[in-house]
Amino acid sequence: MTTTTSNRYALAIDLGGTKVEAALVDPNGAIFPPSRFRAPTGRASSSDQLAESVRTVIRKSTAALPDDAELLGAGIGSAGPISLSRGEVSPLNLPAWRDFGLRAVVEEELPGLSVSLRGDGNCIALAEHWIGAAQGVKFFMGMVVSTGVGGGLILDDRLIDGPTGNGGHFGHVEVGGEDTVCGCGGTGCVEAVASGPKTVEWAQAHGWTGTTGEELAAHYADGNEIAVQAVRRSARAVGHAIASATALVDLELVAIGGGFSHVSADYIALVAEAITDRAAFPFITKVRVVASALSHDGPLIGAAALVHHPERLSEAARA
Ligand SMILES: [Zn+2]
Repeated sequence: MTTTTSNRYALAIDLGGTKVEAALVDPNGAIFPPSRFRAPTGRASSSDQLAESVRTVIRKSTAALPDDAELLGAGIGSAGPISLSRGEVSPLNLPAWRDFGLRAVVEEELPGLSVSLRGDGNCIALAEHWIGAAQGVKFFMGMVVSTGVGGGLILDDRLIDGPTGNGGHFGHVEVGGEDTVCGCGGTGCVEAVASGPKTVEWAQAHGWTGTTGEELAAHYADGNEIAVQAVRRSARAVGHAIASATALVDLELVAIGGGFSHVSADYIALVAEAITDRAAFPFITKVRVVASALSHDGPLIGAAALVHHPERLSEAARA
């Protein structure tokens, strides 16, 4: 039987701090549900355990490839930092892996196929640009506000991953007037100010008695004063950093996803407001901020875009 365009699949792999997930994704960006598998990762895992989880999801997903279908290659979206040229990953929340050769592990499982690696923030941006909120937008940033804050930049329809593969690391841009210590070793990073856990920590330090992002969301909705201040502080940090990014690269659109971006119904609006109090230049205030259109599937879909749409990757990174 011959293959048609629609049954040429990419194997997408998403490596995160708590799980690794793999699935087959078709040329329209649709995940093939029977091929979707996950396995645990986590801070306490050894290097061998992590590698075994990766191999397990690859084997299960590829076993679900229909008989008449073709596997084109694999894309990996990994928690960062990464090294693009060496195919290595050093995910902040997986201490067993520092400069670990993840691409080689995947290549061993898929002889003869090409394997492409990018940071998960970059994959989210690619996914929004391909089938999400940023279709047809040339100057775009995709981002997540969750346990961490991540992002990816698309400028003139190309992903800006940079020579090391870590371009668009929006979570580690500095926010003015803040000195909270960040997991990266810096201070005042967007992630250290605006992430879910850091926002909860800030609220607790100011007398709030809750413990989770969900409680913070409930107390925000009830008008609890500290919860309101905490959520606004997170949105302000994100908005100010978006204003700075827009000053630098003239963004048209930013799409925000991630669990903590749902902490309040008006979170996206608060981010947009923060941009206009930070900046007056029309070329900055014109940037539109919207919610992600991809639910939780962005990283997998973006990993598949590495295979289905290599023309959206920068020339420098492909060389
Ligand atoms: Zn940082």
